[in-house]
Amino acid sequence: MQLIDFSNTTDILYFTLSLCIIVFLRYVLVSGLFYVLFYVFFRKQYWHRKISTKLRTPGQHWREIKWSGITAIIFALSGVGLVALWQAGYTQIYMDDTYSWWVSIIGLFLALFIHETYYYWLHRWMHRPNIYRWIHKIHHDSIVTSPWTSFSFHPLESILQAIVVPIIVLLIPLHIGAVLLLLIIMTISATINHLDIEIYPQHFERHWLGKWIIGATHHSLHHAKFMENYGLYFTFWDKWMETESPEFEALFREKTESS
Ligand SMILES: [Zn+2]
Ligand SMILES: [Zn+2]
Repeated sequence: MQLIDFSNTTDILYFTLSLCIIVFLRYVLVSGLFYVLFYVFFRKQYWHRKISTKLRTPGQHWREIKWSGITAIIFALSGVGLVALWQAGYTQIYMDDTYSWWVSIIGLFLALFIHETYYYWLHRWMHRPNIYRWIHKIHHDSIVTSPWTSFSFHPLESILQAIVVPIIVLLIPLHIGAVLLLLIIMTISATINHLDIEIYPQHFERHWLGKWIIGATHHSLHHAKFMENYGLYFTFWDKWMETESPEFEALFREKTESS
């Protein structure tokens, strides 16, 4: 399938511009939806689950939206690169029934595992003092997070994050639906983790499955304490490497106990 003609400059420009708009709109719509739901419509029901007691700084929303806008451009350029690789036949993305459905499911979990592993170690590296101020500090300017923080990164950090999906699709066979699902999971998980309101149910931190999934309490502790809770989607690297916050379970219980 030919999405764009890479020999035609106008085609490339239009496609890149459209993708920039789509990626930015995706951020605005998803973050906006979570903001309106939990900070406006259901504020009364959820406010006792707000994690940070500090106030956000003046103009923080707009700074986060600005950095997220730049991230959207970088993610869109990575998307153009991905399409170019795909059309040239370098990726392992398939659209037909080359493999059965369970291969797609395993592929998706493998992709999530690779992404988690890449991000956990990248994240720890970005917290090294001489690296931190150049690459990761912009994201941590948000001590108190909100849905708008989800893609607020310095462009260098955005580039390091944007290369992972094109690399994954070069390595493992993924159905096009699994690629789209991966991008959706990435967006929703980033928004939930920066919500600063715990939306997962009571006892989730001890549930056989829930204890492996990162949510707002887990990631808000990272923004408050810096040197713990480095994970992206899952808690396993933090548990294995003993970098999970010792306060996490108690704080989760405190925020989710019925009031
Ligand atoms: Zn964060
Ligand atoms: Zn960090």
